[in-house]
Amino acid sequence: MARDVAVAYETVIGLEIHVQLLTASKMFCGCAVSFGAPPNTLTCPVCLGLPGALPVVNRAAVELGLRTALALGCRISPHSRFHRKNYFYPDLPKNYQISQYQYADHPPLATDGHLELQTEGGVRTVRIRRVHLEEDTGRLVHPDDPARGSLIDYNRSGVPLMEIVTEPDLRSPAEARDFLVALRRLLQFARISTGRMEEGTLRCDANVSLRRPGSAWGTRTEVKNMNSLRAVERALAFEVARQRAVLEQGGEVVQETRHWDERREVTFASRTKEEAQDYRYFPEPDLVPIVVDEAWLAAIRASLPELPAARRARFVAAYGLSPYDADLLTATPATADLFEQTVARYPAPKTVANWLLGEVAGYLNEHGLELEQVPLSAERLAALLRLIEQGHLSGRMAKEVLVEMLAHDRDPVAIVEARGLRQISDDATLRAVIDRVLAEHPGPVADVRAGKDKALTFLIGQVMRATQGRANPEVVHRLLRERLGRA
Ligand SMILES: [Zn+2]
Repeated sequence: MARDVAVAYETVIGLEIHVQLLTASKMFCGCAVSFGAPPNTLTCPVCLGLPGALPVVNRAAVELGLRTALALGCRISPHSRFHRKNYFYPDLPKNYQISQYQYADHPPLATDGHLELQTEGGVRTVRIRRVHLEEDTGRLVHPDDPARGSLIDYNRSGVPLMEIVTEPDLRSPAEARDFLVALRRLLQFARISTGRMEEGTLRCDANVSLRRPGSAWGTRTEVKNMNSLRAVERALAFEVARQRAVLEQGGEVVQETRHWDERREVTFASRTKEEAQDYRYFPEPDLVPIVVDEAWLAAIRASLPELPAARRARFVAAYGLSPYDADLLTATPATADLFEQTVARYPAPKTVANWLLGEVAGYLNEHGLELEQVPLSAERLAALLRLIEQGHLSGRMAKEVLVEMLAHDRDPVAIVEARGLRQISDDATLRAVIDRVLAEHPGPVADVRAGKDKALTFLIGQVMRATQGRANPEVVHRLLRERLGRA
């Protein structure tokens, strides 16, 4: 009986994602957008909401919104307006936030898109309800010493944000996480946002509810303050379990906003959810409507680069990679670009993929770095692979050289020369070493002649030792067998 109840609920998750757009200036004024500037150094009368200041729409931000809408296959509104969302909060100097809301006959920037998600159970289509533009608020800073009160930094006030709202199509916390990964990848490939959750350029709220399959929607809660992919998955898992426990005990889920407490790993109620009418939306009288014509859209469509799903498919078809490797190589534009640029110089796609996903990824993981943060160029990686192919470096030595390339920004050929690492493969040099080794070890030589292969391994080891590991083991093996009549 209890087990029937436990499996009888379906998880329903919808996401609201706030994306900071990659613009040089703010949404409605010329102030610079910059992460980590000293507090209140990037402000003006417009973004501080001073009386008489008039906002002007940043065309670059609208264009990034339209890029997103096209990439998500949305229907784009030929006319859309900005609205004032009225509420009081100290980080909001105007007492309203300029946003776009589906209001009267004014649609938001774009509606009705979708994003396809690769899941274990196949491809899932997640519908996008809308994409709209708005401005960010300021930021409250609470010093450790309460006597200092709270401080406000308005640098972020007016920074261009885009809100992407999904339909409640996600069915598990893991799926919600996968959706965010796919969306972030799309935003990065299309150069719309850095998508860095740790810097707040990608923020996510989630609506979560449970229902019995086929029955009406359950009451939902909104979960906020999830600052990493891991946090999204864990917060949603906690919230699903919490709601399930409430329902199984015969209780009712209360519609409310809940915050994720990263340290305690719980969600907690903060305030009851406002309804749209609480914000008293009305059209922003200081801004003209956004008018999107076909010519503008065509130009933006033409400027869109190859998107991640298409690039992944092409990597499989054109380079013969597995879907798994193609997926890893298209995780970021930097990885995909480096892969293709290296293959152009060293046309062995599987070898290049193996080095990027193996040794290079391992180094980055170990040091907590992104690919953009290490001095690895396609030229250098191709040069390294050529050294291996030409027999100048063993695989083991190449790994050492790679680490030095990454740590000290050096060219592989220069490292090999400076460290005397070049592998010894030429017969004449190795024959001389072999002769010396054989003269020093008559016992093992006799053993090999008597058919004991273990002694051969010993002699190979001695040659490697005499060359400080630089002898090419395959060549040594061949020459020794020739020399001892065991070919
Ligand atoms: Zn400003």
